[in-house]
Amino acid sequence: MAVSPGRCGGTTEAGVDTRASLVEFLERAGGEPFCDGCLALQVGAPLLEVRAALAGEGGPMVRATGRCSVCFRTLEVTRIPARSAQRPPS
Ligand SMILES: [Zn+2]
Repeated sequence: MAVSPGRCGGTTEAGVDTRASLVEFLERAGGEPFCDGCLALQVGAPLLEVRAALAGEGGPMVRATGRCSVCFRTLEVTRIPARSAQRPPS
């Protein structure tokens, strides 16, 4: 059952839900980098909304030039470094 909260509030700020979706997706991706276009496809949000969300507070998200793990183009990508992957067991 799909639940869509916040519809009756009337003041849902554009980009907040998108940003939360991006963070959740990137955390689940375990540090894989994604370009803006592929992120938009992955979270099902308009590209403009994704870019607006990414342009806001950085938070856990890291922006850098790199290769997108979906379309393999080298451009500006976004990822969330996986904490558990930063220090592999020796
Ligand atoms: Zn891509």
